[in-house]
Amino acid sequence: MPDSNDRLLWIHGEYVTPADGKYFDTHNPATGEVICRVAQAGKADVERAVESSREGQAQWAAMSGAERGRVLVKAANLLREHCDELARLESLDGGKPIAETPEADVGSAADCLEFFGGQAASLHGEYQAVPGGFFYTRPEPLGICAGIGAWNYPLQIAAWKSAPALAAGNAMIFKPAELTPLSALRLAELFRDAGLPDGVFNVVQGFAETGQALTAHPDIAKISLTGEVGTGKAVMRAAADTLKAVTLELGGKSPLIIFEDADLDNAVGAAMLGNFYTQGQICTNSTRVFVHESIKESFVEKLLARTRKLKVGDPLDPDTDVGPMISADHMQGVLAYMEKGKEEGGKLLIGGGRARVEGLENGNFVEPTIFDGLTDDMTIVKEEIFGPVLSLLGFSTEDEVLERANKTHFGLAGGLFTRDIQRAHRVADGLDSGIVWINHYNLTPIEMPFGGFKQSGIGKENSRRAFEHYTRLKTVYVAEGDVDAPY
Ligand code: NDP
Repeated sequence: MPDSNDRLLWIHGEYVTPADGKYFDTHNPATGEVICRVAQAGKADVERAVESSREGQAQWAAMSGAERGRVLVKAANLLREHCDELARLESLDGGKPIAETPEADVGSAADCLEFFGGQAASLHGEYQAVPGGFFYTRPEPLGICAGIGAWNYPLQIAAWKSAPALAAGNAMIFKPAELTPLSALRLAELFRDAGLPDGVFNVVQGFAETGQALTAHPDIAKISLTGEVGTGKAVMRAAADTLKAVTLELGGKSPLIIFEDADLDNAVGAAMLGNFYTQGQICTNSTRVFVHESIKESFVEKLLARTRKLKVGDPLDPDTDVGPMISADHMQGVLAYMEKGKEEGGKLLIGGGRARVEGLENGNFVEPTIFDGLTDDMTIVKEEIFGPVLSLLGFSTEDEVLERANKTHFGLAGGLFTRDIQRAHRVADGLDSGIVWINHYNLTPIEMPFGGFKQSGIGKENSRRAFEHYTRLKTVYVAEGDVDAPY
């Protein structure tokens, strides 16, 4: 039986109990305590969500783009009005420092809803005269889309997937990661308050099985997943049975290259942002920091001085820079990578183990960690750790560093610091990554396409490009003359 603290499934504009009565706990990563029980969606619930979405989508797609856009912009405003509450929820469920969540989570989700709200009325086709007549094209919604989220940016991911989908006239069934299921439900409530028709945004919480039920469902036209490379492959294989379109936002092991003429303070700041923000649990992180040998010593000195000042602590304390890992399991994985780094001969410059936070002894805290003395073939240099572990690597020439930076099956992001404008663009051109930052790192304005190359993903989120992944293009030929048949 559900009790009043349980968070239920959100289907057709209201909370409903799961058909088979299953629940799971969501924890506060800073304390290990249970926040509440959460309903777990099974196949019957996914079926119910699909039926609801079918009805919701038909009504939604019949509305004009301008009307749909108004709802999305209103939802963006509501997110901003509830910023404090949402930021706290995100920090509580995901362990993210409260110094980050108002802007990086709530603000970026609101920006996204506002951007796509503004674009909704502008979706248009093209016209071209051709021999015998003309054709025009119609970007049509796909129908019912499913979004499956990772746990590191729960609200942002829910917005990045739902805003373009809804703006284009689709319905979305969203499955948040089981570790952070709460904020997507608040988003659903705010969508309703903004006037979104029932069934256009449904939320089904659960584990991989819930995601699999969505991927297998024949009436779902598209899956957009944010998650690990292995999950991406499993989703793509499963989606092949019903030939669904997929957008995959997967993992990375991105390089940041600091050339000898770089502004060192900016480069150090970017390297820290790219490794310690959200305790290093960011897909695009610059976990391989290549520094030109001639400046490496001064770079490291500045980096260590600033890293020593980082405050690991309670995510709800505004002075905290680094919160806990999302779960005890994930913390063990990150600690195991730190040990591996030491075993394989890496030189530990700072950190390297569990962090103790007074009063939060059961929290999943680890120390911001920097390794030097590494080679490209070591495990921590090759594999995604998804924690605050920075690998320092030296280099001598541009050709050498580009070759080493690209020697990975990942291709999500990359960055470089130089004052040489020609080199900046040459290296950006040479990096085999979906996103490149010149003289900055990890900025993701909503206007900018976001997505990886190689095994880091397929498709783009954000910007108008996202519409290509949530619409199908119909071509209509119109004859202006008679049919000239040879029979
Ligand atoms: P996972 O791949 O473990 O999970 C992602 C989501 O997929 C979760 O909701 C999960 O459910 C669900 N899922 C798991 N297995 C299946 C399946 N077989 N079919 C359908 N759904 C499934 O990733 P994490 O949540 O651990 O997130 C961390 C990863 O996400 C990192 O690799 C990171 O790089 C990547 N990421 C990529 C981003 C990008 O934009 N490129 C951004 C953020 C993160 P559940 O967890 O509830 O069991």
